[in-house]
Order: sequence, then structure tokens, then C-alpha cells
Amino acid sequence: MILILLGPPGCGKGTQAKRLEDAHGLVQLSTGDMLRAAVASGSEMGQQAKKIMEAGELMPDEIMVEIISERIDQPDCANGFILDGFPRTTPQATALDKLLDAKSLSLGKVIVLKVNEKALVERITGRYSCSNCGAGYHDTFQQPKQDGVCNSCGGTEFTRRADDNEETVRSRLGAYHAQTAEIVPYYEQRDIVAEIDGMQDIDNVTVAIQGVIG
Ligand code: ADP
Ligand code: ADP
Ligand code: ZN
Repeated sequence: MILILLGPPGCGKGTQAKRLEDAHGLVQLSTGDMLRAAVASGSEMGQQAKKIMEAGELMPDEIMVEIISERIDQPDCANGFILDGFPRTTPQATALDKLLDAKSLSLGKVIVLKVNEKALVERITGRYSCSNCGAGYHDTFQQPKQDGVCNSCGGTEFTRRADDNEETVRSRLGAYHAQTAEIVPYYEQRDIVAEIDGMQDIDNVTVAIQGVIG
């Protein structure tokens, strides 16, 4: 099964993708995580990504399509995958269609998480994750069971993303409205879109997604 999780920054794509990964044996392909790994590696592409991400803008389509094309050829993607953060523009969506066609693969569902802007800003400015295993948390909405200790791995170090500040969030939301939102109607022509109320708590969003993918 190939799924796309679509929605503005902070809507819950990463949180839900991790749950789907555990429940369905699908691999989460987060282009944001891939770019952050490139930034950490200090590669040439990473240096470019650092600047673009800090400005809240989008990386060039050709680079992103290349990254995804190589990634979905890896053996762990054979049972299916969840695209989290890709496609983000119409050219990326059309390139993905071509890639999948060439590999005789087809899209299952495009799951759109609807969350209002005030909640998005709250979610993003309170977001942090475990430095060791990447598990996601929130200052208010998703605290570890034991204060300061990761539920998944017991780690005690946490990090916040450099771009998770209110100013960058505004540009990221601008980029979503200007370049990403238009891909919802692009997929709607095909009857594979499911819109989900992402304002519900995390567990109920998971239940709603399960209802769509069966
Ligand atoms: P995205 O990947 O779409 O940017 P995340 O999954 O990282 O979003 O979620 C952003 C933040 O909001 C995280 O800190 C996460 O713990 C929290 N969060 C995710 N889903 C919900 C929800 N349904 N209700 C409240 N907080 C949520
Ligand atoms: P969010 O959790 O806010 O949805 P991501 O982790 O998916 O953010 O992405 C972080 C940043 O990485 C984006 O603001 C953008 O600069 C870059 N990025 C990630 N995916 C893409 C993509 N498919 N196309 C262009 N830029 C991307
Ligand atoms: Zn951890």
C-alpha cells in the first residue's frame, strides 16, 4: 500500500506516519527527515537545504524527486510506504505519478489532515523529539510518560527543530498555501482523497485514518 499524508506543517503527518509504520509494516518516507540528515552530514546539498529550511521555503523539485526516486527503490519499500512531506508541489505530484507508473505501482490513498492555523502554530512551537530515536513529543499535547525520559527508548536528550519558531512557521504556512494546497484538487479528480479532521486528539485521528485505509 502506498499512502500520501498531506497537510500543512504541524498538522500531524509525522505523528500519524509513525503509527501507521508500526501498525501496517509500511515505511515512513519523510523528506523533511531526509533533508535534516543531509544538513547534519554537511554535504553540499545539506548546506543548500539548511538555508532553504531556515527561510521556510521549499527545496527545488528536481532534487526532491531524485531523492524520493532513489529511496523507493530500496528493498524496505517493497511492502509499501507512507509519503510524509512529499509531494509538496504540483510538479512533484506529476513526477511521482510518472515514477510510480514506471515501476507499475499505484497510489492507495491521499489522506489530508485538516487543522486550523492557530492550532498549527501551537503544535509547531511546542514540538520536540528524542535525540536518540526521533520519537515525537509536544510540550502540552504529547508529553513523555515520565518527565524527561523518552517513552520509546529511555533516552533523556531531546531536540527542537531550528525552523520550529513562530517567524519561520509563517513562511512555511505561506509556502503550503501558495504551492502545496493545490495538489489536493489534483488528486481529487481520481477519487482517492480522504479528508480527516486533524483537530481531534492524536488517538482519534489514528482511528479515523484506520477507517479510511481498512
Ligand atoms: P507534521 O509532521 O505534520 O509537521 P507532527 O506530527 O510533527 O506534524 O506534529 C506536530 C506537533 O503536534 C508534534 O509535537 C505532535 O506531538 C503534536 N501533535 C500531532 N498530532 C496532534 C493532535 N492530533 N493533537 C495535538 N497535538 C498533536
Ligand atoms: P513539516 O513538519 O513542517 O511539514 P517537514 O519536516 O516535512 O516539515 O519539512 C521541513 C522543510 O524541509 C520544509 O519547510 C522544506 O523547506 C523542506 N522540504 C521537506 N520536504 C520537501 C519537499 N517535498 N519539497 C520541497 N521542500 C521540502
Ligand atoms: Zn527515544
